[in-house]
Amino acid sequence: MRAEIIAVGTELLLGDILNTNAQFLAQELATLGIEVYYQSVVGDNPKRLEDTIFHAFSRADLVITTGGLGPTEDDLTKETAAKYFGEKLVLDEKALSQIQVFFDRIGREMTANNKKQAFVPENNGVVLYNANGTAPGIIIEKNEKIIVMLPGPPKEVVPMFQNQVKPYLAKKQEYTFISRILRVASVGESAMEMLVKDLIDAQTNPTIAPYAKDGEAILRITAKARDEAEAKSLIDPVAEALKERLGKSVYAEGETNMETEVAKLLVAEKKTIAVAESCTGGEISSQLIRYPGVSQVFLEGCVTYSNEAKMKRLGVLEETLKKFGAVSRETAMEMAEGIAKTSGADIGIATTGVAGPDGGTEDKPVGLVYVGIYYNGKVEAREYRFAGSRNKIRERATFQALDWLRRKLQYEK
Ligand code: ATP
Ligand code: MG
Repeated sequence: MRAEIIAVGTELLLGDILNTNAQFLAQELATLGIEVYYQSVVGDNPKRLEDTIFHAFSRADLVITTGGLGPTEDDLTKETAAKYFGEKLVLDEKALSQIQVFFDRIGREMTANNKKQAFVPENNGVVLYNANGTAPGIIIEKNEKIIVMLPGPPKEVVPMFQNQVKPYLAKKQEYTFISRILRVASVGESAMEMLVKDLIDAQTNPTIAPYAKDGEAILRITAKARDEAEAKSLIDPVAEALKERLGKSVYAEGETNMETEVAKLLVAEKKTIAVAESCTGGEISSQLIRYPGVSQVFLEGCVTYSNEAKMKRLGVLEETLKKFGAVSRETAMEMAEGIAKTSGADIGIATTGVAGPDGGTEDKPVGLVYVGIYYNGKVEAREYRFAGSRNKIRERATFQALDWLRRKLQYEK
């Protein structure tokens, strides 16, 4: 089945809103094994909308539209599709009463216009009742062509697609595509690719695709299968082989992130933590605190930016700062140990570095960051060199600091 996605709305054309529906639908169709050949955006203009829908059907079997199902005169998607299929629109009492219920719930008067939204194709149509808004979606299927019309607001589109459209389309597909993601930390995308290149090349089903996202490397394993169980049996051995190859660098599977994994480990290991940050400016604390339940282990976080703060709050020695500088292995270690001891936490983690864009020297260039960790009564520091803007450097330092801690929590009990 070849599909085309059409987003309807002048706001989209003007760039006032981002076409997130197209992104969502394209991703969903890919998992269904339906190939999307074209995507387009068209304004609320009857002639151009008609051209776009008719043109789409000259090259696609399935057309999915979003938007233009509203109550106003210029919402014409349904009328245009009915014209293409030669269908008459008739009032659907159930859709009308649902619209009434929706208005009652939000405490507003239903207007006469809204009645237009309850018109559905007389034959060959499926009504997708809308639990989250007024306009029902509509499917028309006739002569091997299918149109799926969805409303515009993403909070209506997403559940309607997941609950009603996906099962409808899945029935037509013999195979679906099911993916699993491995998240890899502290190995660049290209280094990771080299490490597993032979495995990638040897695979046809599932396929393995490496890519980089927000500073981490990701491996997506995708199986073509008849159902979840078959996909699992195809993916499991490949995932195991990849994990064996990449070892400790694979930090998680699926939709998660580093801070969540670290916070989970801290809670599971019942180890308390305190954070002293210079160049990351509170980022480590802020990320860990996103995790609900972290209060069991997170004691405190300090942004100790000045030398005075490092001495006064953490007990970093003046000599250390004089002799090695604030950005040094020695300072990072004293910061980490200082925050752990003064807060009474099991773990202390600290950062100090040159985030730039100014302030770099030959010895201590922009991007130089030291992370200190006090763990199991021992303190260590590591040197990192990051590239990028000030905020990229801060982000990368945060990620690497958390990854180093993650490795300790997992492998140095
Ligand atoms: P309504 O009854 O709300 O008017 P509609 O089906 O006519 O629904 P539109 O008027 O086209 O839909 O869009 C309603 C709102 O939904 C837009 O203002 C926008 O916020 C959001 N929206 C529409 N299309 C998209 C899209 N492609 N991606 C993301 N958001 C969208
Ligand atoms: Mg509208």
